[in-house]
Amino acid sequence: MADTCKQGLLSVILPSYNEEGSVPRAAQTITRLLTQAAIPHELIFVDDGSRDGTWAAVQAQSRLYPCVRGVRFSRNFGKEAAIFAGLAQAAGACAAVMDCDLQHPPEKVVDMYRLWQQGYQVVEGIKANRGKESPLHTLAAKGFYSLISRATGIDMSRASDFKLLDRRAVDTLLAMREKNAFFRALSSWIGFSTTQVEFEVQPRLEGESKWSLRSLVRYALTNLASFSTAPLHLITLLGIVVFICSVVMGMWSLWQKFTGQALEGFTTVILLQLLIGSVLMICLGIIGYYIAKIYEEVKDRPRYIISQHCEASDHDGQAEKDI
Ligand code: UDP
Ligand code: MG
Repeated sequence: MADTCKQGLLSVILPSYNEEGSVPRAAQTITRLLTQAAIPHELIFVDDGSRDGTWAAVQAQSRLYPCVRGVRFSRNFGKEAAIFAGLAQAAGACAAVMDCDLQHPPEKVVDMYRLWQQGYQVVEGIKANRGKESPLHTLAAKGFYSLISRATGIDMSRASDFKLLDRRAVDTLLAMREKNAFFRALSSWIGFSTTQVEFEVQPRLEGESKWSLRSLVRYALTNLASFSTAPLHLITLLGIVVFICSVVMGMWSLWQKFTGQALEGFTTVILLQLLIGSVLMICLGIIGYYIAKIYEEVKDRPRYIISQHCEASDHDGQAEKDI
């Protein structure tokens, strides 16, 4: 891909899940902006198994604008999968990833592109603020990002998926075979000459956020496990703490026995049993979680399945290609 990619072409990747309202607006806004800035571009919408009219909207836009292409997943595979599918489709010398709901301001893509022209290979969008969120959400996000920042050694507190990557960085990411790829962190982890662009998270104009509390918790756990083995080390630490406690309590009990003041101690025994039993179960759960992740990786299933493609040439008399 590195040799065949077009000179200066910018591929904009837009993961879209139930975004029938946002797709036309995104296509129009981004195309107009990049045309005005004289940046050669293509737009790749990845329909992540939407259940509304997103795919029809993408097809309509590819009819309107020759630079718009679309890929449709056979079902919902999640935003990370959609990003990687878009990167695999990109023909550009650089690729920008942004949300299709335009919460990532499109005019920043022009700034990012200019920085890429200056020689930067990874241009990261950094959130100036986190947009409108509940205090609980902000607190949970803070906790998650401080853990993940420690695991990656990179400050992720204001990181986002809004990034522009050089072809070399795109190819490096695509060469990684891990299934639980966490784009936001991996694209920083790969290194390369990196710079940052600050942006304000815009309010959503159409539809609503696709994240439920459950999906956010799952997202946090999966990504923590994919980047950090700290929970496994925590088990060892816990084992040491419990061992020290048991030595102290053992000596205390022996002393009581030999001095003839041993109590009946039934409650203590029950409590200790329950405590140690639950600690063991939690530890097994953590180990089990990692084993499940290993199981998912060794099965080597594809990250996503594409059911349809569409591009401008499809509409010159022929239907979209089925795969
Ligand atoms: N998205 C996706 N697949 C999903 C969930 C979301 O492709 O399973 C896309 C969605 O269409 C949007 C982007 O990811 O373009 C960000 O999603 P959303 O706006 O719901 O998240 P938020 O901005 O609230 O973090
Ligand atoms: Mg959004």
